[in-house]
Amino acid sequence: MDLKLRGKTAVITGGARGIGKAIVLTFASEGANLVIGDIDLHEAQLVADMARAADVRALAIRADVTRPKEVKKMVGETMDQFGRLDILINNAGIVYVNGEPTTRRLFQDLKEDEDYSPELNIILHGTIICTRAALPSMLKAKSGSIVNIVSEAGLTAGLPGSTMYSAGKGGVVAFSRTLANELAPSGIRVNCVAPGLTKTTRMERLESSADKDAKTAAYAKLTYDQVVARTPLGRMGTPWEIANAAVFLASDASSFTTGQTLVVSGGSFMY
Ligand code: NAP
Repeated sequence: MDLKLRGKTAVITGGARGIGKAIVLTFASEGANLVIGDIDLHEAQLVADMARAADVRALAIRADVTRPKEVKKMVGETMDQFGRLDILINNAGIVYVNGEPTTRRLFQDLKEDEDYSPELNIILHGTIICTRAALPSMLKAKSGSIVNIVSEAGLTAGLPGSTMYSAGKGGVVAFSRTLANELAPSGIRVNCVAPGLTKTTRMERLESSADKDAKTAAYAKLTYDQVVARTPLGRMGTPWEIANAAVFLASDASSFTTGQTLVVSGGSFMY
């Protein structure tokens, strides 16, 4: 299957590590030029170097998705350097199942927006801010593909303590469907990928207690074991499996698909 990505430009937010990094490198292997936006410029630059090894052009930019000015700058530099922006992957986000008991607070214990704004800001507002910034060039080109990385928690009941995460992800799913409807006449598609539990380096380190205390590591492992136990395919996903789904939805191989959410979770949730 020819994904027809050679020469296209893809912007990936949160592309410095985890799922975003796998998406960047999968695009690179298909010949797309890349812009990696992340709050961690150093790691983003390392990923850009890895992408260039696949003989594509890659640019790393420090961009916090919650800051419209930084996002506008990222899109401006994309257009200056590559002259086109074909694909936007809204991936930057918070990983909820991170094993840190302090983040597992029930809704009834949250204090006004100081507690719930950060998650909604990154997940929902960040997606809206980046989409708004990328749209003018896609509208001008009368083509484009936007893929939003959501979560099972936005589609079904999340674990207790994840209300704001779920609200953000569910909001992105709803936003994506209606946006897909609005943008279809302009030749722009909008889809989502909903990963289940995915084994990134960050997850592995938490589970092995490499950078957290033993209590947190045990908590993380217990959570992961419970999720795997209810997953028909019997394991966590890999970042590469999520990346394959995202790159498929971003490419012309899915040209008749819009407004959809592809769940990549080993069957733990069947949509
Ligand atoms: P990750 O390993 O934490 O990577 C996320 C990247 O985004 C990091 O480089 C992070 O930087 C960056 N980032 C965080 N806030 C940002 C901001 N405001 N602006 C720009 N970049 C920002 O996470 P992941 O596991 O790959 O997750 C990627 C996406 O998949 C997220 O949307 C997540 O909610 C979703 N997801 C993940 C899983 C899973 O099991 N891993 C499951 C379902 C959904 P720092 O590291 O410096 O914060």
